Amino acid sequence: MSEFCIIGSGISGSTIANLLNKKYSVILFDKARGPGGRASFKRIKGKTGFDHGTQYISPKTKEFKKFTKDLIKKRILKVWRGKHVFLNSKKKRR
Ligand SMILES: Cc1cc2nc3c(=O)[nH]c(=O)nc-3n(C[C@H](O)[C@H](O)[C@H](O)COP(=O)(O)OP(=O)(O)OC[C@H]3O[C@@H](n4cnc5c(N)ncnc54)[C@H](O)[C@@H]3O)c2cc1C
Repeated sequence: MSEFCIIGSGISGSTIANLLNKKYSVILFDKARGPGGRASFKRIKGKTGFDHGTQYISPKTKEFKKFTKDLIKKRILKVWRGKHVFLNSKKKRR
């Protein structure tokens, strides 16, 4: 029997499951067809679909930067080199 039960496989549920899974047995439930919640890839037909939520994240804290670095190493995340344009100001970033 699992020691922890997590409801929801979005970023929050997946993150806590990943951390707990290092020491405990975990079972994760989601009411949706697939994992990811608002960061998931929405399938339309077969492999065709689109990212309908989170497209990018901007880590600010040291801990979150380290966490994302590890995910980049594991090829789960990719660095996005696209241009960011802020529509409500003159700020422009690469
Ligand atoms: C259009 C859009 C664009 C976005 N773009 C960005 C972006 O570019 N960058 C960014 O940082 N953030 C973005 N966000 C915000 C980001 O997607 C969310 O803040 C984040 O995904 C929330 O994660 P979460 O795990 O807290 O919740 P969710 O992703 O909502 O996960 C909750 C999960 O719980 C499941 N669930 C709920 N109730 C039950 C139940 N009773 N039983 C079982 N399962 C249940 C749901 O199915 C879902 O999978 C965007 C959001 C939207 C909608």
